[in-house]
Amino acid sequence: MPGIIDLHTHSSVSDGTLTPAQLVDEAIGLGLHALAITDHDTTAGWDEARIQATGSGLTIVPGMELSTRHGYRSVHLLAYLIDPEDEALVAETERIREGRFTRAEDMVRLLGRDFDLDWDDVTRVAGTGATIGRPHIADALVARGHAPDRTTAFREILHPSRGYYVPHYAPDPLTAIALVRGAGGVPVLAHPGTRGIENVIPEEYLAQLVNAGLFGLEIDHPENGEAAKVRLRALAEKFGLRVTGSSDYHGTGKVNRLGECSTHANVLDAIYAEGTGTGPFLP
Ligand code: AMP
Ligand code: ZN
Ligand code: FE
Ligand code: FE
Repeated sequence: MPGIIDLHTHSSVSDGTLTPAQLVDEAIGLGLHALAITDHDTTAGWDEARIQATGSGLTIVPGMELSTRHGYRSVHLLAYLIDPEDEALVAETERIREGRFTRAEDMVRLLGRDFDLDWDDVTRVAGTGATIGRPHIADALVARGHAPDRTTAFREILHPSRGYYVPHYAPDPLTAIALVRGAGGVPVLAHPGTRGIENVIPEEYLAQLVNAGLFGLEIDHPENGEAAKVRLRALAEKFGLRVTGSSDYHGTGKVNRLGECSTHANVLDAIYAEGTGTGPFLP
């Protein structure tokens, strides 16, 4: 029986709650076949994951979830097998992480008007070097007793409708796809059905992403809606895009369970065939 292939997870190098080694141990414990480490805008967790998986039977697919922006909308792009030293990609991810940092400072300043919260609270929960995101601000709010858990903090305080949300710098999706391909990577549009069928990417715009080098759509994702998935499958068929399935696991930071969605082995083989920046870390 082929094992589960989970191609989207986060560690404490970004906004997951487990260290890369703990994440790998959990995947080994569940008997996963392959695990992609896809922290936001960083490849800093790869080495620890590779070392931890050595000799275990678990394949590590090195990846990243790149932040992009289309107009006012945040769009996430999974990038597999990129060269972690590609100059253009490294420069762009540094710019995004820096933008995330100043944006988080701005959000904490706004929150500080209504909540007992300051920047030290965020650094205390985020540690050093992690790609900063709203989950860290959520954790700081929880630590201060303003919310019972991360998910409630997102819903009740950090949602854009509440007025504390500040956008951060991110490149256009077309630019990001070109960057990923330029770094030998394989780009997949992350969770494209989380905003309902009425907000699924327009066909004409998807055609542009395909022309830029898009490889696939992450359709089997716990937060994609059922109607949106039907529409996305039709689009994947029409444009010859591959379909991936992944959990987007964040440790205890989100309800998503490791391995709850899986990618077909032949799609992973196609990723291996197209990715030239780095090889998978075979056990
Ligand atoms: P940001 O990119 O900084 O705006 O923060 C959004 C990120 O928070 C997304 O990657 C979500 O997957 C992540 N996230 C982690 N835990 C949660 C949660 N409990 N509720 C909502 N989003 C979450
Ligand atoms: Zn995240
Ligand atoms: Fe995402
Ligand atoms: Fe994610």
